[in-house]
Amino acid sequence: MIHLRSSEEIDAIARGGAIIGELLEAVRPEVRPGVSTLELDRFCEDFICSHDGATPAFKGLYGFPGSVCVSLNEEVVHGIPSKRRRLKDGDIVSIDVGVRLDGWCSDSAWTYPVGEVSGEAEKLLEVTEKALWNALDAAVPGNHVGDIGAAVMALVGGRPYGIIRDLVGHGVGREVHEEPQVPNVGRVGHGPLLRPGMVVAIEPMLSAGTADIRTLEDGWTVITADRALSAHFEHTVAVTDAGPRVLTSTARPVDAWTGPGGPGNA
Ligand code: MG
Ligand code: MG
Repeated sequence: MIHLRSSEEIDAIARGGAIIGELLEAVRPEVRPGVSTLELDRFCEDFICSHDGATPAFKGLYGFPGSVCVSLNEEVVHGIPSKRRRLKDGDIVSIDVGVRLDGWCSDSAWTYPVGEVSGEAEKLLEVTEKALWNALDAAVPGNHVGDIGAAVMALVGGRPYGIIRDLVGHGVGREVHEEPQVPNVGRVGHGPLLRPGMVVAIEPMLSAGTADIRTLEDGWTVITADRALSAHFEHTVAVTDAGPRVLTSTARPVDAWTGPGGPGNA
């Protein structure tokens, strides 16, 4: 069932979400060549646990061993933090974070360049982030879940990127993963109606090659089938009468994105 949350409940989700928003900024200087993905995991866990009552929501979720997911280059999601995996100049790395606070969950992910990256990688990050903001703008009452996927597709447009379809966004609340599923492809006017009080994680994942994915033998790490670079940006957002309320960030990067009708929509 799809839950509708009161404004007090949305405020409670936003308190945990704000920790992720701060963390995804605080971790930025830690993302540098030589750092292991386990060190990033520890940084994130320490940051989350330094806030009274907050815990990493992914730790132990379905048996996941890390506190956060750290996915490098062709890894789309669910990378297991490891002391043997070290960032190199030119890599891109996604950090996916869940926080549980006062019985409420929130979920957000960001992909960072490591040192100097290729123009191809830079463009992939830019387009995927813009796809997220475009999709967030579609999270308004009266739209449907399909409008969110349609907004991702519209932003990606004719670019030679794969939109990962086999992984989806989701409702967020008492659990990290609730109904409804929120696909990154869709048709305007299709899918469940978006109503005030719905809280969903919107999370476009793009590949610089195929949209096909496969899971590695560790049972977790999802990679692009052709090992093309992949980027992942995610926010938890509440559908409200006042418009989309992003709960895992305090600001949108206006220097990079000017909203609907901006350069990304051209
Ligand atoms: Mg996530
Ligand atoms: Mg998610």
